[in-house]
Order: sequence, then structure tokens, then C-alpha cells
Amino acid sequence: MLDKVLIANRGEIGLRILRACKELGIKTVAVHSKVDVDLKHVRLADETVCIGPNSPTDSYLNIPAIISAMEVTGAVAVHPGYGFLAENADFAEQVERSGFTFIGPSAEVIRTMGDKVAAIDTMRKAGVPTVPGSNGALDDDHERSLQIARDIGYPVIIKAASGGGGRGMRVVQIEAHLINAIGVTKMEAQNAFGDGTVYMEKFLETPRHVEVQVLADNLGNVIHLGDRDCSLQRRHQKVLEEAPAPAVDALAREEVLASCVQACKDIGYSGAGTFEFLYEEGHYYFIEMNTRVQVEHPVTEMITGVDIVKEQLLVAGGEPLSFQQDDIIFRGHAFECRINAEDAKTFMPSPGTVKTFHTPGGNGVRVDSHLYCGYTIPPNYDSLIAKVITYGKDRDAALARMRNALDELFILGIKTNTDLQRDLVADSEFQRGGVNIHYLEKKLGL
Ligand code: ADP
Repeated sequence: MLDKVLIANRGEIGLRILRACKELGIKTVAVHSKVDVDLKHVRLADETVCIGPNSPTDSYLNIPAIISAMEVTGAVAVHPGYGFLAENADFAEQVERSGFTFIGPSAEVIRTMGDKVAAIDTMRKAGVPTVPGSNGALDDDHERSLQIARDIGYPVIIKAASGGGGRGMRVVQIEAHLINAIGVTKMEAQNAFGDGTVYMEKFLETPRHVEVQVLADNLGNVIHLGDRDCSLQRRHQKVLEEAPAPAVDALAREEVLASCVQACKDIGYSGAGTFEFLYEEGHYYFIEMNTRVQVEHPVTEMITGVDIVKEQLLVAGGEPLSFQQDDIIFRGHAFECRINAEDAKTFMPSPGTVKTFHTPGGNGVRVDSHLYCGYTIPPNYDSLIAKVITYGKDRDAALARMRNALDELFILGIKTNTDLQRDLVADSEFQRGGVNIHYLEKKLGL
């Protein structure tokens, strides 16, 4: 069992990790930037270390400062949360080389999954269904690229191997635009990510975003925790998620869940991970793997009863998973609404001081948030301030609870997207289940 863990993150996930550590009797070290001294988990941690100024580059992305904080405090492991250094293979490697434990898979696995061409290749070989495409990087042979596109059929999408956050992608509708689009995407990818490698996929017109949660230990045990639907997105940012994914083909789902477990075994995966798929007309198409805990992990926790962060900590300490596949019983339905500090119309971040914070409650309601009255949200970081999660015996019951929960939520002093979330849960198409990834932007008139 790990003795002391350093939390290399902030906000709600910092608090989430702290809570899991405390439940397991693990001592905690919170590292923070100057302005973040007032964060809830920083105040609750056993020890704290200021690792730099407010800019993320100087603090939460500052690898030497974090490793020094581990040395100074005697922390034996680091939990990276999501974002920041969570999928930085160099960080994982330096942590391990310094004699500490990185809570996540090996640096090698993180590196492979961070390169989308390598990731897709690995998954295809492991039997995970992928999007029809170039099966590898595009080279300078124009005739070959044209032939690949003809074979898969237009529209196609050109994607950067090192892309992320929805950047470095270009859709091509007709053959006449293909070669130019490849050239421009390559150049942009080189400038943005320092890697001009691009590949081609069939562009799916109305897919849903369905993802699979997995857990693996270092003793060869791998389980899946079912799926989630995260199709409600704006600019590739998820807004509202649910588990399980509604209205998917039962047989295809069983096959894809099994293939994810097999892939984890094949690549020697360890810890929590998510396989992201596009889902269209009964078919799953792998797009990428996230080698960390996800923002939306609570919806899976609600329907399985598994504490994903605790499992991450146990596995990193060399323990076996607390569950075998047969122990996992999927019960009911859960939703998560992400509450952001942002302007309802422009979506611009809206930092400031929280004057009132009334959280919803009652049976089947969970709120993961670092807010408290008088807390000042700094302008330097992500605008996620709370996650409202509800559980019900079925989808309708969970949705009814979410409507109540959002009605009970009061955050005054800053602007939030709560009204948008209220609109979404009242939306008749969303209520029916299974809207595609363009639905929210269309609804917003974007
Ligand atoms: P990133 O790492 O930048 O998030 P992804 O490969 O996960 O990149 O793709 C991000 C989003 O782009 C997807 O959620 C989807 O909305 C869209 N997308 C990616 N590939 C395709 C595709 N082949 N067809 C349609 N949409 C796609």
C-alpha cells in the first residue's frame, strides 16, 4: 500500500484524489501554484508545497518542481489527475527514474497511445474495431493518398498523429481538395505539435461518442466497467455525460467491451483507462485511448459501485483489483452535468468570487466540487467548477433527479452554464436518448 501520495493537480479532481487517499489511510501532499493556496484540497491535505507562480507552465506543468516536492516531502507516488501532466510520457518516465511511482500505466504505453497512428495500429492488431482509413501515416505519394481516399469513400478526415483537444483535423469532401488539405494539415501539425505526421480516416457524418472504462492491475487482471455516452459536446468539449450509453446494439457492445479488455492484456495496461469510440449505425470505431482518469468517471462509479480512483491507488501500490469481472453488476443509470464558470452566451470563462454556493442533495445525488462561499476562481485554469451527478433506477429516474438537482443548484457571484444544463435535460430529443455529437452545437445555432 502506498504510504504518501502527491496530488499533481487542482480543482475538483485534486479534491477527488484527496478523498480517495484519505479513505485508504494514505497521507497526502498537495502541490499548488501561488494563487491556489486557497483551494479546498490544499487546505485539507496533510502537507502542501507551493511549486511556482500561477501560470500552469511554471507550476502544474513544472516537472522538476513536482519531483523536488516528492523528494522534500517523502511522497512515494504521484497522482496526475487529468489534464496537465496526466498523459505526459516524459513525466511518467522521470517520476519512475527518480525512484517514485507514477499512478497510471507505463511511460511506454502512454507514449504509444499519445501517438494516434501507433495507437490505432496497436488497437487494430488487438482486435478493437477502428475507423476505415490509411492504416498508418500518409507519405508524400499523392497517388497513394488519392487511392486510399477512393477506397474508403468521401468525405474523409485528415488527422494529426500528435493532435489533441480536437485540433489538427481537416474534413475533405471531394477529391479535388485532398492533396492540398493533406499539405496544410501537415504544416499545421508540424507548427502546433512539432510533428507533421498525418493519417486519413473515413469521416463519419452523424456518430455518437461512446467510450469504455477499463481497469487493470499489475498482476494481469483486467476488467471493464461498461460504457458511457458523451455525445453532448461543444467544440469537442464534453458538456453532459451518461452511463450506460443508451440505445446501443447489445451484441456489438459485448464484442467491443471484450476487445477492450483483450487489448489491455495485449499491451500490458495498468490502472484506469478509457477507450474512446465513435458509434454509428450499430458499429463502434476506435478513435483514441485516454491513459488516465476521466472527468466523467463518476457516472460509471454510480452504476457499478466501483471507486475508480481508489482502484488506481491500490493498483499503483501493487495490490490486485478489488473486483473481478463477474463482481461487476451494472445497476440503473447516471448522468453528469459539468458546471463551468463561463458566460452563458459567449462561453467565455468567468472567473471571480463565489458569493453563494448551495449544492443540491438527496437520494442519488452527488456533487464533486471544490467551490465554497468566498472562494475566488482564478483566471488561469480550466473553467470546470462542479460536476452534478445523479443516479436513478433507470434513465428517466436519473434524468428526473437531475432536473431537481439543477433546480436546487445556486451559484452566485459568477456566471455559470447552469441554465444551459437545465435546457439540455429538458430537451425532448435528448430525453429520448442517443443524440449525435453535432446535436448540441446545432441546438446552440453554431
Ligand atoms: P482529439 O485527441 O483531438 O480529441 P479525436 O481523435 O479524439 O481527437 O477526435 C476528436 C473529435 O473529432 C471526435 O470526438 C469527433 O467529434 C471528431 N472526429 C474524429 N475523427 C472523426 C471521424 N473519423 N469522423 C467523424 N468525426 C471525427
